[in-house]
Amino acid sequence: MNYAANSLESYWMPFTSNRDFKENPRLIVRAKGMHYWTHHGEKVLDGSAGLFCVAAGHGRQEIGDAIARQFSELDYSPPFQFGHPAQFELARQLTDMLPGDHNHVFFGNSGSEAVDTALKIALAYHRARGEGQRVRLIGRDGAYHGVNFGGVSVAGMVKNREAFGVGLPGVAHMRKTWLPEQRFSRGQPEQGAELAEDLQRMCDLHGADNIAACIVEPIAGSVGCLVPPKGYLQRLREICDQHGIVLIFDEVITGFGRTGKPFAADSFEVLPDIMTMAKALTNGNVPMGAVAVRDHVYDAIVNNAAPGAVELFHGYTYSGCPVAVAASLATLEIYRRENLFARAAEISEYFLDQVYALQDIPLITDIRGYGLLAGMDLAPADKPGARGFDVLKRLYAAGLVVKTTGDALLLSPPLIVEREHIDAMCKTLREVLSED
Ligand code: PLP
Repeated sequence: MNYAANSLESYWMPFTSNRDFKENPRLIVRAKGMHYWTHHGEKVLDGSAGLFCVAAGHGRQEIGDAIARQFSELDYSPPFQFGHPAQFELARQLTDMLPGDHNHVFFGNSGSEAVDTALKIALAYHRARGEGQRVRLIGRDGAYHGVNFGGVSVAGMVKNREAFGVGLPGVAHMRKTWLPEQRFSRGQPEQGAELAEDLQRMCDLHGADNIAACIVEPIAGSVGCLVPPKGYLQRLREICDQHGIVLIFDEVITGFGRTGKPFAADSFEVLPDIMTMAKALTNGNVPMGAVAVRDHVYDAIVNNAAPGAVELFHGYTYSGCPVAVAASLATLEIYRRENLFARAAEISEYFLDQVYALQDIPLITDIRGYGLLAGMDLAPADKPGARGFDVLKRLYAAGLVVKTTGDALLLSPPLIVEREHIDAMCKTLREVLSED
């Protein structure tokens, strides 16, 4: 497609400094494999898999063909009280890939919707079991769980909260898992498992039997890749088991091979009760989110309901939308055929070696990494976030797209990344970060 942009004024861009952008736009017009092309015709390396979503690389024709085939056969079917066969097939394939008895999958359109769906399922689960007093939700400082009211309430990023009122009532936050002693630790830090005791403290303060769920990203992504300290997630699991609290892993970033296994739950060997997915579920090619639940959650809500009753009053016009399902089926086929999760595990060592080799650059105050995900903190400039934004723009001008949040910089290349791309990425990072 070739659209000439005659005006930049009408489009209100998300999470963007709109006025700054419009002074010097960064338009991306084409993508293939590991690269984008800008409207100036320059080739740019994708260091963040789009927004952690394009795991199989850009422009996978198999996915486009599957979408086109699905469209010509069935463009849309209503998701309430009707189904189409591919939805059932996708859910089955996902349950094969998911850990433990995560045998049931609910579809939505984004990570934000997956998070809000997961929170609602946790509340409905307790109510179905006669424990409707469990309404409190526990999140964590620094977390990102999307932008809907539920997700924003349990998340812990001040900028995403401060303009939007008070959010959900009854939410409390654990501390994030970062400690200064962990600086530059690679993989899971040795220090910090005791931070999981914050959940026990919430139980002691609020009464454990008032708490419905505890939601965490197994690796806190957007805040800058905080890898869970050794033993931390296990301890959260123990506390949840002891008190009947539903443990939710938000795997929107970590799902589908980012950690070198299908899910972070596999990598860290902790089985949550509910898991969210989105992003790489369709290789980022069509919006889609999903929530997986274990048997006991599904059984309590669905199999306990009266015959003929709608068991969960929740869903979206585009739940299991045919083209999204087709894109996801084609994506999962690529992951299997190209063994991409194992590939991510294999190349992770090289990726982390090269990223950690940047630690002599004075501007970098910390590096964290696991699998094909790494984060680094940059020394702040005069205002928080100013350094990160400046670096984002300079990296782009130098041919590299990465994600920044505040003054943290995130690297999450597509799982098809080769050594030469990692070398190019780290060379550009070194050049640009050494300019200050
Ligand atoms: N949860 C996590 C952990 C995320 O990282 C994100 C997005 O980055 C979301 C939820 C929200 O996903 P979406 O932007 O698709 O709504």
